[in-house]
Amino acid sequence: MDIERENHKLEKRLCREVGRAIVDFNMIEEGDRVMVCVSGGKDSYGLLDILLKLQQRAPVNFELIAVNLDQKQPGFPEHVLPEYLGKLGVKFHIENQDTYSIVKRVIPEGKTLCSLCSRLRRGILYRVAGELGATKIALGHHRDDILQTLLLNMFFGGKLKGMPPKLVSDDGRNVVIRPLAYVPEKDLARWAEVRQFPIIPCTLCGSQENLQRKQVGNLLREWDAKFPGRVENMFNALQNVVPSHLLDRSLFPFETLCATGEANEDGDKAFDEEPCAPPAAAGADGNPSWVRPVIPITAGD
Ligand code: SF4
Repeated sequence: MDIERENHKLEKRLCREVGRAIVDFNMIEEGDRVMVCVSGGKDSYGLLDILLKLQQRAPVNFELIAVNLDQKQPGFPEHVLPEYLGKLGVKFHIENQDTYSIVKRVIPEGKTLCSLCSRLRRGILYRVAGELGATKIALGHHRDDILQTLLLNMFFGGKLKGMPPKLVSDDGRNVVIRPLAYVPEKDLARWAEVRQFPIIPCTLCGSQENLQRKQVGNLLREWDAKFPGRVENMFNALQNVVPSHLLDRSLFPFETLCATGEANEDGDKAFDEEPCAPPAAAGADGNPSWVRPVIPITAGD
């Protein structure tokens, strides 16, 4: 297949998946003013790009306003985003706030800067959303961010918790949406190449990327390469939760559970064999190894 057709398919897939997430979670409604947070990374460029395309054909009218927070990191190329956004013709706002100096001053040398930096950024973006009259704040997190968060919460937080596609902000004043929730990161990486987004590196602050998140990201990429379908299945599982088969007593009334006296064809076959038992290799007789007759071992064998 030639590159152009391949790119066209990718564009269609991106629009379809973003549109599906918007509909599934009722992310954007008539009259919304959506503030799209654009950092200069591939994901947020992709988000803005696809939302602009969808805006042309959506059944509802909504406004888009791109917002970049210039955190005054050394070497941040401050002309790049205004130039790019100006050429696109989209409304935009650059918020200048020197959180870099605050973080550097407060956090001791050698400690990771990210948690304070993100907290400051979040607060500023929520304030800006209010000032701009935005009704929704769109963030560029994608499917793999959601899965990484799920695994990190399981491994280190003791919680079965991912990243919501839509939520009310912690100050209660904003609705935050993640329209890329269904989009795999590899599609965004490819789209960034196709569209030649002027990427601004995220390492300007000199802080280390979260090592655990990086490791989990590598693990997902490895699974995706070795076991096609596994990552998709994990993501589907997030949309197919069975509280009666987990152990959270607040989600299922185990205490009051009693026999109904009625058979249920779709009910759980509690004593059936594990559906996921690995298939045994068939022997020469065609039987899996565990049903082959046991040949007694005699002396001299
Ligand atoms: S990598 Fe730098 S800019 Fe990004 S959250 Fe961490 S400290 Fe902030």
